[in-house]
Amino acid sequence: MRRQRNVKVLATLGPASSSEEMIRALFEAGADAFRLNMSHGTHEGVRDMYKRIRKVEADLGRPIGILADLQGPKLRVGEVAPDTLLEGGAEFRLNLKHGIGDAAAVALPHKEIFEAIEPGATLLLDDGKLRLEVIEAGADFAVTKVIVGGPLSSNKGVNVPDVVLPVPALTVKDRRDLDFALTLDVDWIALSFVQRPADVAEAKKIVAGRAFVMAKIEKPRALDHLDEIIEIADGIMVARGDLGVECPIEQVPAIQKFITRAGRRAGKPVVVATQMLESMIDVPFPTRAEVSDVANAVFEGADAVMLSGESAVGDFPVEAVSMMDRVAQSVEHDDLFRDAIDAGRIEPETTSADAITLAARQVAETLKAAAIVCYTASGSTGMRASRERPNVPILVLTPVTQTARRLAIVWGVHCVQTEDASSFLDMVIRASRVAEGEDFASIGDRLVITAGVPFGSPGRTNTLRIATVGTERGRSRS
Ligand code: PEP
Repeated sequence: MRRQRNVKVLATLGPASSSEEMIRALFEAGADAFRLNMSHGTHEGVRDMYKRIRKVEADLGRPIGILADLQGPKLRVGEVAPDTLLEGGAEFRLNLKHGIGDAAAVALPHKEIFEAIEPGATLLLDDGKLRLEVIEAGADFAVTKVIVGGPLSSNKGVNVPDVVLPVPALTVKDRRDLDFALTLDVDWIALSFVQRPADVAEAKKIVAGRAFVMAKIEKPRALDHLDEIIEIADGIMVARGDLGVECPIEQVPAIQKFITRAGRRAGKPVVVATQMLESMIDVPFPTRAEVSDVANAVFEGADAVMLSGESAVGDFPVEAVSMMDRVAQSVEHDDLFRDAIDAGRIEPETTSADAITLAARQVAETLKAAAIVCYTASGSTGMRASRERPNVPILVLTPVTQTARRLAIVWGVHCVQTEDASSFLDMVIRASRVAEGEDFASIGDRLVITAGVPFGSPGRTNTLRIATVGTERGRSRS
């Protein structure tokens, strides 16, 4: 199955989309990778979703990326009874320990908040939709006045914009969830509320290469060290939900562009997330503004656009994925898209891998080749090729299952698992066979192939070969 677009779609799974049928339908509608949100549900539930994704992957024969998103030192309220509504002007209590919450009180299991807040402080719930003002605070409770009310459901986020909270990068829950996610063999771990490069370094040390690590950028402090964070991380997410609460919301579009450019510069995948098609949680059609938001992320050259509530809890998960697919295709077929992408072109680094991938793009575009074919074990050459944002497809051939899955969120890359090439002839025959089989090329089309020679030695992309599909096969038969 070949996608007709370069940008990837990352869909969050949840109660509305956790069945095997739904996962299959989401993949067929255009989801390239799935996000398992460790903030919600149990390990058992996550394991079940993981197994179903892998089953769909095996049935359809295409690699699917799985990202486990750690909650991070995100502060959340506890369980809340269904249909809870906070009334503006009413008194609302937060308790360190509390049973099921209601319109009068809820659990807030974070003693750091009670230690730090004072009367007059603001507490924001559910991405800032609800606003509370603290009237009285003790060691294990706070009495607040509801300034802006609305519905409140379980585990909604809490932000305390006026107060600096001393919280660790990986909580005890994160460490447990991380260990669990690694036993499942997920492809990406997303790290929430990264503030410093050291936060990412700590996670990378624990993960120890068993998955790629994505830094979610949602704290203003992270922007001060963005390039260092990106250098350590394998990818980044513009986590606009919390970013729009922690920073003035009107600054978020410019911050998104700033982060996307920084990620592209470094050749690390960038995911733009949150509220992209928010109204599709309830209705089968998005607003014009939401369509424009998805389109802008595509024009900016983001690697992936993400659905959260739309696919996890909404009434129209498949329609939301399909809408993203349609918007992305429409943008990418517009002449202005190429102008926008070329305007953001990045200078190559002084490495042979970068020189080869730059040359591959230029040769492929000059010859109007059917595809650039990259042999890669770690995936780094595939990511390098993607960084060039060529106007021909990138076919990544890898012997490593995990590489094929990890690259599922990388712009323009279509991964196929196959054995490494053993000789120049094998390299060409294998590339031609896969390009034909995956509908990228037919007999007589040209391919631009990059590989590392000697074959089978990872991290050594040093060879560029132009091949014509069918020619080498004829020669090998004779
Ligand atoms: C966000 O804040 O935009 C985000 C993606 O993180 P979460 O969904 O965990 O709040």
